[in-house]
Amino acid sequence: MNRTKPFAIADAHELLIQGVMDYAIYMLDPTGRVLSWNPGAEQIKGYAADEIIGEHFSRFYTEEDRVAGVPREALRIAEEEGRFTAEAWRVRKDGTRFWAMVVIDPIRRNGQLIGFAKITRDMTEAREAQLKALESERRFRLLVQGVVDYAIYMLSPEGYVTNWNAGAERIKGYGAEEIVGEHFSRFYTAEDREARVPWMALETARREGRYEAEGWRQRKDGTRFWASVVIDAIRDESGELIGFAKVTRDLTERRQAQLELEQSREQLFQAQKMEALGHLTGGLAHDFNNLLTGIIGSLELLKTRVSQGRIGDLDRYVSAAQGAASRAAALTHRLLAFARRQTLNPRPTDSNRLILGMEELIRRTMGPQIGVVTFLSSRLWPTLCDPNQLENAVLNLCINARDAMPSGGQLRIETSNVTLDERDVRGQEVKPGDYVVVCIADTGVGMPQEVIDRAFDPFFTTKPLGHGTGLGLSMVYGFARQSGGQVRISSEVGVGTEMRIYLPRHEGPAAAEEAQPELGVAPQAEHGESVLVVDDEATVRMLVTEVLQELGYSAIEAADGPSGLRVLQSDVRIDLLVTDVGLPGGMNGRQMADAAREIRPELPVLFITGYAENAVVGSEQLEPGMHILTKPFAMEMLANRIRAITSGG
Ligand code: ADP
Ligand code: MG
Repeated sequence: MNRTKPFAIADAHELLIQGVMDYAIYMLDPTGRVLSWNPGAEQIKGYAADEIIGEHFSRFYTEEDRVAGVPREALRIAEEEGRFTAEAWRVRKDGTRFWAMVVIDPIRRNGQLIGFAKITRDMTEAREAQLKALESERRFRLLVQGVVDYAIYMLSPEGYVTNWNAGAERIKGYGAEEIVGEHFSRFYTAEDREARVPWMALETARREGRYEAEGWRQRKDGTRFWASVVIDAIRDESGELIGFAKVTRDLTERRQAQLELEQSREQLFQAQKMEALGHLTGGLAHDFNNLLTGIIGSLELLKTRVSQGRIGDLDRYVSAAQGAASRAAALTHRLLAFARRQTLNPRPTDSNRLILGMEELIRRTMGPQIGVVTFLSSRLWPTLCDPNQLENAVLNLCINARDAMPSGGQLRIETSNVTLDERDVRGQEVKPGDYVVVCIADTGVGMPQEVIDRAFDPFFTTKPLGHGTGLGLSMVYGFARQSGGQVRISSEVGVGTEMRIYLPRHEGPAAAEEAQPELGVAPQAEHGESVLVVDDEATVRMLVTEVLQELGYSAIEAADGPSGLRVLQSDVRIDLLVTDVGLPGGMNGRQMADAAREIRPELPVLFITGYAENAVVGSEQLEPGMHILTKPFAMEMLANRIRAITSGG
């Protein structure tokens, strides 16, 4: 075995000291002259061994220290007390200063002082870092002290206040001197203390590191404020809990503002709802008045005929009254649909036939600027749904499409069969299976995503006040869902919208179409004076015609503005125009009358209007020879007015 020869201990020592670079380690003789010098000393102080050995160590001290006799004093203390330690400025060879940590130990042999061992460390950087830390801590303390918007303070692990900032004083009303040492639970309300809330808060912070809450807290004067509170547990390096940092903010004003905002939003929503309901009921009242005019008038005429003993032709009045009454019933049905309480009357339905039956109405509703095309699948399955409701739904979608194309465009109505499998219905409310799709597509303005998201909400509308009720789509949706189907929207802003109603397939044939009761046919005009009657309500038309015949006039009937105007533009004799104001076909009664007056300047006009249309006619600024009769009215009243007008009244 070839073992390396061990160093003598003294040699090892010497090597070690020579090797150390971070410490200046050297010896002084009893008078303070340098006897030895290691590379650490050279590195720190800047002198090489050969230029410093034999020199007095006081040159490492600052001018001030030398004048004050510090080097001598240091050696004296080391000799007398066994050690001298210091932290102070020392000077390098190049004159720069460094912050030194110094230890001087005396070395004795046989009780005789033979010199000193000196160790010096350069602590400049460490000291700077420490100063910085102290400075930032000081600044932070000042910051916390100065913050007035937040109460920032600390609690002992048991919940006693240990310090207090300006914000805490401002928010809670206590000065630091009166609150430090008190338990923080006094900031809580009596109820909260009763319920142990403060203690549970500390427990939560202890367990989870943080506790956060909003709630009422109490000021010194007993008043309450709405606080947002954060409590953080503070632990030392070993994990021991040393206290809690607590930050509290007074949010009373903000909460107040928030409550007010919520309240005014709620009020606005209520107002909008009332507005929409007002609009809705106004429209319905108008429709009802029309229908009541039909019913009351029929009954009145019935009574007159019976009293005259002319009982041969009474059926017409009965069925006219019945027709109007059943349409009134349909209207209440619609009302119930709004309330989602409709009793649906599902029947096997051929959607194609239903759409074909509505096509004319839809075209008229769309007006001349909108083209209407239909693509109806020739082998469309029947569906089981309430046909009246489907009609309503289709009409609602068409009207929305029209509103989305204010400067014209194309409306496409399409029907098709689809089979939805598990994948198609994933995440949706319908079952897989066979469906009939009725698609209403437009080339209009389209909907952004946030409108799509809310389109089915009742009362959601983007239309100006008084134009939309926001109930159309909610009704369509309610109908589709109640029928076991659904509605889907695909829409792109600036491109257009496709609304698809999915209705479950019905296995079996569609029911045969029910015969619609034929309403009164206008009697032939006799001789003499003639009156043009324009009203889209056949019953009203018939009744007015009857009254006219009673009075000895002959009557010509028209169902909308354009066809009425055509009659007026022909050379047929017309002595009086009796017209409804709200008319289909893109021209209301007032506009038609104005156009007629261009050709027949003296033509007397009698408007018969529902209440909602008074504004359209503008009763104050009626021209001479124009009159108004408001629905519903008694037939006798109508007769009187006509008599008065035609006799020049
Ligand atoms: P309303 O028509 O009374 O506004 P709806 O429930 O029928 O109420 O429609 C709700 C909203 O959905 C409309 O105000 C509109 O913003 C949007 N919308 C419906 N249909 C269309 C469409 N075809 N194109 C663009 N937007 C539409
Ligand atoms: Mg609508």
